[in-house]
Amino acid sequence: MAGVVLKDVVKRFGDVVAVNKVNLEIKDKEFIVLVGPSGCGKTTTLRMIAGLEEVDEGEIYIGDTLVNDVPPKDRDIAMVFQNYALYPHMDVYNNMAFGLKLRKFPKDEIDRRVKEAAEILGIQELLRRKPKQLSGGQRQRVAVGRAIVRHPKVFLFDEPLSNLDAKLRVQMRAELSKLHDRLQTTMIYVTHDQVEAMTMGDRIVVMRDGIIQQVGTPLELYNKPANKFVAGFIGTPSMNFLDVVLKKEGDSLVLDGQSFKITVPEEYKAALEPYANKEVTFGIRPQDIYDLAVSKEMLRQDGNVIDATVDVVEPLGSEQIVYLTCGAHTIVAVFDMQTHVDVGDTMKIVVDTDKMHVFDIDTEKAII
Ligand code: ATP
Repeated sequence: MAGVVLKDVVKRFGDVVAVNKVNLEIKDKEFIVLVGPSGCGKTTTLRMIAGLEEVDEGEIYIGDTLVNDVPPKDRDIAMVFQNYALYPHMDVYNNMAFGLKLRKFPKDEIDRRVKEAAEILGIQELLRRKPKQLSGGQRQRVAVGRAIVRHPKVFLFDEPLSNLDAKLRVQMRAELSKLHDRLQTTMIYVTHDQVEAMTMGDRIVVMRDGIIQQVGTPLELYNKPANKFVAGFIGTPSMNFLDVVLKKEGDSLVLDGQSFKITVPEEYKAALEPYANKEVTFGIRPQDIYDLAVSKEMLRQDGNVIDATVDVVEPLGSEQIVYLTCGAHTIVAVFDMQTHVDVGDTMKIVVDTDKMHVFDIDTEKAII
């Protein structure tokens, strides 16, 4: 069992800084997910932990051991890749046993470990099958089994579910989370899929351009994004960003979007005061916008209504995604199916200002 620590880790490929001074403390037994768009450096970070990529600057520790110069095979880690190539001529048993045979484990120990892993993964009946006789999900389990038999200190997963169809992916997500509960081993998981990150991670690390943007629990990232990038990356549909001017009107602070005005609730005034008369970005999630006609209780005395026109309606069965315009602004809202909206309707929407976000327009950092 071991935690993993990265201190000021840098990796360059020619002129590209793939990983830029990354500091991260992954706790023992934690399930941590590295997430970010393509090219943000998540795979390179994982490969450095695995020892498949050399570290240019900084230090990586697994447990108490500095591993910068420790070869991959001596790091006590096991990695499951996106392309979990199984040996086609070997049956499932031998695919799982192969790594242990190479390491000269005694036969009875290999047998014990393979059977134990097969039991954990529910693939006991498949041990004599060849990979081509398995479904995608079953192959994926065998690939995980190969990692489990090693009893590693740390599991590393690099987009292991991306070759599976959507339904199987959802099922395997749950299985991997259960596996983590059962094995109680540190797991580091790379994905570009924020939903996968949100559903699996104890904590999530959001990366962009080789730099960590924020580390937190799924709810921390959703409710308190540190900047506009994280706010837009986490949550579907994405948060609305509306450029507005913060104006003082008497005792109030008002977000003035020209075609609408929203009054800042009392609790946020102190933080926003320094931005009076400046442009800021107002952020509101589609789920925090309501139809006034249906949700009158959301109306506030101080003003949180926007007049908008319905552009597009996408019914999803349990809810509908509604695209609206208000002057030069486009606003996306998620309404329940009871809300009746048609394209071309003009309507009043209310925003839940307790849930609003405001970002500095230059640094893109969250002010509230
Ligand atoms: P993806 O989800 O597309 O795999 P990623 O977030 O995992 O993306 P990395 O694969 O870590 O990103 O790549 C980070 C940056 O480093 C990218 O700009 C990439 O082009 C570059 N890079 C990665 N590996 C190499 C390499 N072997 N040689 C040159 N550049 C590389």
